[in-house]
Amino acid sequence: MRYSALEVIKQGLTGNKGWRPVWRTSAPKPSYDVVIIGGGGHGLATAYYLAKNHGVRNIAVLEKGYIGGGNVGRNTTIVRADYGQKGNSAFYSHSLKLWNGLSAELNYNVMFSPRGLLELCHSDGQMEAYNRRANMILARGDEAEMLDRNGVADYAPYIGMDNERFPIKGALLQRSAGTARHDAVAWGYARGADALGVDILQNCEVKGFDIEGGVVRGVETSRGIIKAAKVAICVAGRSSQVAAMAGMRLPIESHVLQAFVTEGLKPFVNTVINFGVGHFYISQSDKGGLVFGGDLDGYNSYAQRGSLGRVEHVAEAGMSMIPALGKARMLRSWGGIMDMSMDGSPIIDTTHIKGLYFNGGWCYGGFKAIPASGSAYAQLVATGAVPSYASAYKLSRFETGHLINEEGTGAVPGLH
Ligand SMILES: Cc1cc2nc3c(=O)[nH]c(=O)nc-3n(C[C@H](O)[C@H](O)[C@H](O)COP(=O)(O)OP(=O)(O)OC[C@H]3O[C@@H](n4cnc5c(N)ncnc54)[C@H](O)[C@@H]3O)c2cc1C
Repeated sequence: MRYSALEVIKQGLTGNKGWRPVWRTSAPKPSYDVVIIGGGGHGLATAYYLAKNHGVRNIAVLEKGYIGGGNVGRNTTIVRADYGQKGNSAFYSHSLKLWNGLSAELNYNVMFSPRGLLELCHSDGQMEAYNRRANMILARGDEAEMLDRNGVADYAPYIGMDNERFPIKGALLQRSAGTARHDAVAWGYARGADALGVDILQNCEVKGFDIEGGVVRGVETSRGIIKAAKVAICVAGRSSQVAAMAGMRLPIESHVLQAFVTEGLKPFVNTVINFGVGHFYISQSDKGGLVFGGDLDGYNSYAQRGSLGRVEHVAEAGMSMIPALGKARMLRSWGGIMDMSMDGSPIIDTTHIKGLYFNGGWCYGGFKAIPASGSAYAQLVATGAVPSYASAYKLSRFETGHLINEEGTGAVPGLH
């Protein structure tokens, strides 16, 4: 079924009886050409592009819980292309371009809203560093501009400009960055993949691999054995655990990251803002809730919840930047499991096992990556090679030392 204004009118006039489920409920088949483990944004996008771009239709996405229950439905939805490292910059630039056409591509409103991203600067040194970054973004053909202090006050008048401890000197503004509705991205890709014949199997946990003579033959799941010629791992925070079932040890640690939302308020935060001291970011959802977050909790965990210490830290940073936040009531907070690689950048690659592929290490940056990652991973699984914009994301870089260290903090995963 194609969604359109005409369809809404037609259904409205006929009692809304003709809407069909967004994807089918399928039973597992004994075998598939490709099995994708993980029904998050990356897994579903991979299935969609495999079917759409490469004509592979006999695919199953195996999800141990429900679609949207992982990080794809837990993030703060920020989409940007302001990366500096070779490898990252081409990749995220390509992803931002795909975001612009995504609702039309999927015939599903993912509510991508390029409302701008303001990255605040609090010292002359930080202004210089951000000037360099803006020039770098411009040089590769993307869009960025620098605002001075008055420019920030005009653009976002609700930011507290009188904070003497963290004075605001200016900001880097990327107007083409923004937000999207996270679960709509999962549902949109699931619907698109389903329409192309992909089986989406929820409550289907992978518990082991069938590997013979260095070649993958299939997976053992909570719903029985499923044979597959190719198996693509795409499980974000569970990457290390799932790879361990195939005998692999990854350069990845799992951390907790929390997000927070307030009661619905009249629209006043018109953009996404990154506080330039510490780590705090905020936007306002279309329902009116202020959506914000900060640093990782700082310890390894597989729990989808965080600790109170981080709640206090994030609230302090938020009120330093927007004092009026203190009046808002926080409604909900939740946590997600972050797959943090040792250089903070992702991996899209083959493995030493024939037919087994790996995609992970996205940490807190993987939502914006979904369209580019899905299309690159699909190409890898279908043809054996990734497109040039994703060519830096090799597992072997951790052996050869060619790290993509965006933060320049070294091999200390918690700091990336
Ligand atoms: C609080 C928070 C804020 C964030 N903010 C941003 C942001 O603003 N911008 C941004 O770009 N990124 C952000 N991220 C990061 C982003 O959400 C993730 O990098 C990205 O969603 C991970 O990819 P995914 O969607 O495929 O993961 P997931 O949705 O987690 O998908 C992986 C799936 O694999 C399934 N799975 C695991 N093990 C198995 C198994 N054995 N068998 C079958 N299935 C299995 C899981 O149940 C899960 O559904 C944030 C993350 C969090 C938690």
